[in-house]
Amino acid sequence: MRHFFLFLLLAGISTLGLPAFAQNQAQFDQINQIIDKEYSQWETFYQYLHANPEISFQEVKTAATLAKELKALGFSLTENFGGTNFVAVLQNGEGPKVMIRADMDALPVEEQTGLPYASKVKTRDDAGNEVSAMHACGHDIHMTVLVATSKVLVQMKDQWKGTLVLIGQSAEERSGGAKAMIAEGLYAKFGKPDYALALHTSASLAAGKVGYVEGFALANVDAVDITVYGRGGHGAYPHTTIDPIVLAARMILDFQTIVSREIAPTEPAVVTVGSIHGGTKHNIIPNEVHLQLTLRSYSEEVRNQTLEALRRITKYVALSAGLPEDKIPKVEVTQEFTPATYNDVTLARRVSKVFKNIIGEANVVKTEAVMGGEDFGRFGRTEEKVPICIFWLGGVDPQKLEESLHNGTPLPSLHSAFFAPLPEPTLKTGVRTMAAAALDLFQQP
Ligand SMILES: [Zn+2]
Ligand SMILES: [Zn+2]
Repeated sequence: MRHFFLFLLLAGISTLGLPAFAQNQAQFDQINQIIDKEYSQWETFYQYLHANPEISFQEVKTAATLAKELKALGFSLTENFGGTNFVAVLQNGEGPKVMIRADMDALPVEEQTGLPYASKVKTRDDAGNEVSAMHACGHDIHMTVLVATSKVLVQMKDQWKGTLVLIGQSAEERSGGAKAMIAEGLYAKFGKPDYALALHTSASLAAGKVGYVEGFALANVDAVDITVYGRGGHGAYPHTTIDPIVLAARMILDFQTIVSREIAPTEPAVVTVGSIHGGTKHNIIPNEVHLQLTLRSYSEEVRNQTLEALRRITKYVALSAGLPEDKIPKVEVTQEFTPATYNDVTLARRVSKVFKNIIGEANVVKTEAVMGGEDFGRFGRTEEKVPICIFWLGGVDPQKLEESLHNGTPLPSLHSAFFAPLPEPTLKTGVRTMAAAALDLFQQP
């Protein structure tokens, strides 16, 4: 008898008389049944999205394709919400408001995977140059999971109450979509969500697994353009010039001391010069050199400290070379800033517990924060302070991961022309975890 009571306690008996665990298990079984029944359609949908990518800010057909699916399920759609973004709302009685976001954009990458559904799409970028397009960051997986999860939740409508808000977001790769939606008054128009979830495909985690981070998950990302001025002239008469190539080289080396000497060793930060362009010919000293940098950090303080250090170093290197004040380098922080993504700790713990219940403890990994960026973080940084959580969805063929660990051959990373997630276990795990998490969040806290 005592043991029986102990069992009930452990099983988490609810006031309704049914153990909470049993309720969950029944829901999980139903989620899995729907997935098994409908999966083949979802894979076809995924292949269609994969073969028809659209780059950032151009996701017109993609958004329309998703919107059509969601309308058919009974969602009310607001399209072109600050660009190609859409908001789909399904009201299902009184209860929490749960927002799920998927990003829709592809990258200007020429696909090399050799898959039968590989993209052959060519398009034009903003500057009018012809570029290839590829879903090399897995956003096609995210969109398929969004639509499939909504199908599961619609079929299980009798088991939850509340409002489901789905976001199709443009231009994640250029940090434009989330910003535009917030500027358009997302929360004022659709109400403040109680929770917001997203996932991102992982190029290092096996398909079938998910990873989660509590607290800071992804970094502040700044793109910085620097123009270094000089006084050009003949390469054989350097004494009559001020050589901006030498100045740029000196600055780049000095930048290396920002992280190593100026920022506290306990604070993560990155300063990378990814591009340097200057000059036209062997024997001409140019007037200008252009640098392009990416900066990463978590805290505002470190972000500001890094930008301040860049301005100081460039200014004094120029002045020390004898350049006048009006030839101090121009340091421009581009608009494509992505703020750090902070996963609400309570929410991350809650959903990770659900993940463990539905896909098994061994398939849920606590991962490290990374210095990559994601504009999903913006949805949690408004004054409404919405608790958000983004988690990693394993996408790598487990066999290939094993081989790579054995022989040291690196796997294609996100953004690689060879990036090819394994669809079935990736999509199924994405839908399982997202649907189960949403159902849990629709229960009152
Ligand atoms: Zn990406
Ligand atoms: Zn991405």
